[in-house]
Amino acid sequence: MFRQNLIEQDLYALNGFVDAIPSQVPVNPDEVDSPKVVCSWVNCGRVRAMQNTAISVSDLSKKYDDRLAVSHINFEVPLGIVCGFVGPNGSGKTTTMRMLLGLITPTTGQGHILGEPIEHPEKYLSRVGAMIEGPAFYPALSGYENLMVLAKLGGFPIERVQELLDKVGLGDRGKSKFKTYSLGMKQRLGIAAALLPNPKLLMLDEPTNGLDPEGIQEVRALLRDLANDGTTVFVSSHLLSELEIISDYIVMLRKGEIVFAGPIGDLMAQQQPTIIAKSLNHSDLARIVEIAEKAGHNAVIRNDSVHILAEMDWAPVLNKAAFEAGITLAQLAPQLPNLEETFFEMTGDK
Ligand code: ATP
Repeated sequence: MFRQNLIEQDLYALNGFVDAIPSQVPVNPDEVDSPKVVCSWVNCGRVRAMQNTAISVSDLSKKYDDRLAVSHINFEVPLGIVCGFVGPNGSGKTTTMRMLLGLITPTTGQGHILGEPIEHPEKYLSRVGAMIEGPAFYPALSGYENLMVLAKLGGFPIERVQELLDKVGLGDRGKSKFKTYSLGMKQRLGIAAALLPNPKLLMLDEPTNGLDPEGIQEVRALLRDLANDGTTVFVSSHLLSELEIISDYIVMLRKGEIVFAGPIGDLMAQQQPTIIAKSLNHSDLARIVEIAEKAGHNAVIRNDSVHILAEMDWAPVLNKAAFEAGITLAQLAPQLPNLEETFFEMTGDK
C-alpha cells in the first residue's frame, strides 16, 4: 500500500502537482527528525555556475537508521546533455533522485536543480519531468485517456497528449487500454507523462528495467532525441552498457559513493587496453604470463586465455617472444574493455 501510494504520488508530484508534494508523500518515520541542512551559498560565482547546471549536489547524504544509503556525494550535470546515472542495485540511485525531487529530506548536504535549492521543490518542479520507480496509471483507461487525466489535472495543454503519444511511439496504440500494454509501452507512456510539463530536465529512474533489447533501444533513441531537442536527461540504470551509447556524461555510484562523475570521454580515457592471448596448448598459458610479466606487464589467466594489460603495439612483440619460446599462439587480440569492465576495474568489484 505504501509502495503503491509512493508510486502514484511520485508520478503526480512529477507532473506538476508541486504544491501537493509535501503533504501527499507518505512520511517515513526515520525522516521526521532528519536535520534539514540550510543552503548557505555566499559565493556569487558559484551561484552563477549553478545556474548553468541542471543538477548540482554537494556533500549530499541520506542515512536510514545507521546506514548511509548515499554518502557525501558531489557532482554536477551540465544543461542540455544526457547524463547516465549508473551503479549496481542498492548503490543509492533512487535515494539520490528522490532527494533531488524534494521527495525525501537529505541528512547532510545541498542540492540545486536548475539553479534552485532542493529545499524548495516548488521553485523548480514545474520545469522537471520525472518517472521514479515505474509509472502508475489507471489500468482500465487507455494511454490517451490516462494522459488526458494528467494533462487536465496538471493544467497542461491537452493538445500535447497526442503529440507526446506520437513522440514516444504510441501514436497508434493510444486508444488501447493501459492494462493491455507491454512493459515497454507502459514505460514509454510513463515517459510521455513525465514530458507533459515540457520539462527542461527529465529524470528517469531505470526506464529500461525489464525491457527486451528492442524496447531498450527504443527508449535510448527517444532519450537521445529529447536531448537533441534541448532537454537535459538524467537517467539511471544498474547497467552501464545500457546507457554508454547515448550518454554524454556519466555519474557512477557504488555503495552510496561517487566513483566517477564527468564526461564519458574521460571515462573512456581510463580504459586500459588488454591483449588477449590463447595458446594451442593450455599448458603454455602460464609461460605466456611469465613472458608478459618479464616485460613488465600485468597478466592473468582467465578461462582458456591470458589477459595482459599492455598497449596494442606490444602484441607483435609477444607474438615473436612466444614463437622463440616454442609456443604456438592460437589467438592474439588487442582489445579495449567496455565501460562496464572499466567500472569494475575502478571499483574493484568482480
Ligand atoms: P536499485 O537499482 O536496486 O533500484 P538503487 O541504486 O536505486 O538500487 P536505492 O534504492 O537508493 O538504491 O537504495 C540504496 C540503499 O538504501 C539500499 O541499501 C536500500 O535498501 C536502502 N534504502 C532505500 N530506501 C530505504 C528506506 N526507505 N528505508 C531504509 N533503507 C532504504
